[in-house]
Amino acid sequence: MIVFDLKCAEAHVFEAWFGSSDDYAAQRDRGLVACPMCGSVEVDKAVMAPAVPAKGNRLITDAEHKAHAERLKALRAEVEANCDYVGANFASEARARFAEAPADPDSPPKGIYGEASLSEAAELVADGIPVAPLPFRPRRLADA
Ligand SMILES: [Zn+2]
Repeated sequence: MIVFDLKCAEAHVFEAWFGSSDDYAAQRDRGLVACPMCGSVEVDKAVMAPAVPAKGNRLITDAEHKAHAERLKALRAEVEANCDYVGANFASEARARFAEAPADPDSPPKGIYGEASLSEAAELVADGIPVAPLPFRPRRLADA
């Protein structure tokens, strides 16, 4: 099962569950996905916003939350130890390093991390440059 935040033509945002992304597309195309507030079947995926569930409406347990936080911390430490921080130059640095990357898969180039706009990231992906969003903010930004 997968949950999507959907938005209707009237800008009502609501959640809906589907068996898969394809199920969602098929049901929407057949007009089976209606806004619970106005009944509009003109719906599309809303931009996802981070959700912080209220107490008593927990989506995960404290133990799961703690394990998740530990994994995030470990991932962050690994990224900071092994990658170069390039700040706002991420998109141009990624392009430059990808262009000069050696073909030898045994010695991959050092990774980088920094900030890119959504459109910059989309352009990198479209050009076949492997990038991924990080689940945390770079420390310099977070501390600012
Ligand atoms: Zn609506």
